[in-house]
Amino acid sequence: MSLIIVMVGNPLPEGIETVAAEVAGAFGLSPVSGRVLSPDRAMELTLDDAGDATEIADILRQALPLIDIAVLPAQGRRKRVLLADMDATMVVGETIDELAAALGREAAVSAITDRAMRGEIDFEAALDERVAMLAGLDATEIDRIAGTLTYSPGAETLVRTMAAHGAHCVLVSGGFDRVTGVVRERLGFHRDQANHLEVSDGRLTGTARKPVVDAMTKLATLRETAMTAGCTLADCLAIGDGANDRPMVEAAGLGIAYRAKPALAAATSVRIDHTDLRAALYFQGYTDSEIGDSTA
Ligand SMILES: [Mg+2]
Repeated sequence: MSLIIVMVGNPLPEGIETVAAEVAGAFGLSPVSGRVLSPDRAMELTLDDAGDATEIADILRQALPLIDIAVLPAQGRRKRVLLADMDATMVVGETIDELAAALGREAAVSAITDRAMRGEIDFEAALDERVAMLAGLDATEIDRIAGTLTYSPGAETLVRTMAAHGAHCVLVSGGFDRVTGVVRERLGFHRDQANHLEVSDGRLTGTARKPVVDAMTKLATLRETAMTAGCTLADCLAIGDGANDRPMVEAAGLGIAYRAKPALAAATSVRIDHTDLRAALYFQGYTDSEIGDSTA
């Protein structure tokens, strides 16, 4: 099965296809066709044969340091399921840190969040510890923060375009359901799954309902969603930024690390580091004419 090189830049430099052809040539491969996916922003080159996609992508990234690159099998590129992480993937920043800020505890909480997302400490223990620090917070504060989130560029376009082409889109988060519900509606996901913070007399008790949504829950949700959609894991796209996204990103046919912590970036050869979430559509071969004009 032949390979396709997809390159996304802001913008793409002149002569980029020559650089890609030289790298492919070093692997004994040559381009047989090329296609513009977005003028000045995204293009693909189809190669004449199969090869080591990961190794080719690594060399291309070294040759083209500001370009997002995917080297993928030419067949089966359009995915029928999207599983997306929320914090630092679909939205900018970590909502648990913003909740803590409302109590003046952001520094203590965000230090733990960072270590958990890097995979340095156990996810559930880190979640419990931080949720305990939120005890006493007025629960409506969560709704206020959910209403003021900054969405990642291209997030809505990614979800709505895949949904419009028949994909089942699920938001799966180690964050909280009062936030994911808002994000699901705003971005057009079919379903969301996240942790539930216990509330008593309108205030957070400092505990999350068990079992918590962790890395294994995300993987299980990927499998369930694929089964429901009647497809295999090869037909799924999973995207995230943190260590707890690693199992689903590794299992999905197209696993993408988005501006990811090293623990996740090392797990996949498909990364978005320089452009925006629309790159996940170009990687699947969507062209601008097929992509909705959602601005978020
Ligand atoms: Mg995240």
